[in-house]
Amino acid sequence: MHIHCPIETTPNETRVTLLPDSVKTLVAAGLAVSLPRGFGKTCLIPDSDYEAVGATMTGDADAALASADIVLGIAAPTPERIARLKPGCLHLSFLDPFNQSALIQTLAQKNISAVSLEMIPRSTLAQKMDVLSSQANLAGYAAVLLASTRLNKIFPMMMTPSGTLSPARVFIVGVGVAGLQAIATAKRLGARVDAFDTRPVVEEQVKSLGAKFVKIDLGDTGQTAQGYAKELTPEQIEKQRAGMAKVCAQSDVIITTAKLFGRKSPVIITDEMVRGMKPGSVIVDLAASGGGNVALTKPGGETVTENGVTIIGPECLERTLPLHASQMLSANLTNFITHFWNAKEKQLPIDTADSIMGGCLITHGGQVVHPSFAPKTT
Ligand code: NAD
Repeated sequence: MHIHCPIETTPNETRVTLLPDSVKTLVAAGLAVSLPRGFGKTCLIPDSDYEAVGATMTGDADAALASADIVLGIAAPTPERIARLKPGCLHLSFLDPFNQSALIQTLAQKNISAVSLEMIPRSTLAQKMDVLSSQANLAGYAAVLLASTRLNKIFPMMMTPSGTLSPARVFIVGVGVAGLQAIATAKRLGARVDAFDTRPVVEEQVKSLGAKFVKIDLGDTGQTAQGYAKELTPEQIEKQRAGMAKVCAQSDVIITTAKLFGRKSPVIITDEMVRGMKPGSVIVDLAASGGGNVALTKPGGETVTENGVTIIGPECLERTLPLHASQMLSANLTNFITHFWNAKEKQLPIDTADSIMGGCLITHGGQVVHPSFAPKTT
């Protein structure tokens, strides 16, 4: 079987889907890997490093794509790319399936077996393939560093002959994977950290990292069976804003990461709350691409200043760390393939009843097969 990874065409994308170590693993497992020449350029990896572990570097990427049995990508394929794929091939990439029904129909019509990376179950068994987690982890780290370079203060406390500098106060809103890493990073830099999440189970995790959990009584919040936050009612959001306003006003840095899987992110920080913050404070809104947790956020990496408060809405902060982001992505994709690969038969069987495959396979055999997106039969 032949794996091909096209070069990503999204502007500002720096990540690649396979690093040489992963190519080595796949080739050793009996798969053939072809990559376009210059594939590793954004990670400063020369073609010779890929060739040394058995990849074929091709000058005819279209032909390689058309003959591939497995295609690995980051962004969802464009209609032009789908038209070039071999019918029946397995395609792994983000798909944003909740918002891309036309794309899903096109993939089904072309008989592509399309896996949506965002739908890989968040289970212990699938942890090694969990692209959302691996990338969010780096984004949480990068968000704190970004804020630290925009803040007009330092993070740690310093007692010097010239006086004592008090530690920066950092508030993390939304304590999933990105939020936990943001807490850990801010703590390592010496900040005093507060955090809040609507899922009560998070309190212990926050405390274990040495941060303070902000308690706000919102009534019944809970989480879905998959561990995601449930959407709050408008009344609960109002209560949350009121409960957070004081902490926001005291904070030098706020990192917001509060997302709702498959839906628009909740607006938690209003214009008024921003105006209540100290001039010089910084907000990094990691939920910007889903609409943002801050009313004033402008997505796409834009920076807005209101009353001396800087609000940054980065699009995909993990792209600022291309080598490590690619290393994790490459490991996740390779783990997915080797998990299902039957080396003896040299086949990758697709079993829709498998909990991992069935959880993330959107189209197969010319149909939309995922229960969340398949046409309803009544
Ligand atoms: P996410 O990116 O979807 O959301 C980030 C955080 O925002 C979540 O913790 C969510 O509860 C929180 N949030 C939503 N609305 C909020 C609001 N109004 N105010 C404050 N916070 C709000 O989350 P994620 O990081 O992708 O994690 C999703 C879930 O998956 C979590 O339960 C996580 O523990 C779980 N998970 C499990 C595994 C595993 O078991 N292998 C791996 C990774 C993640």
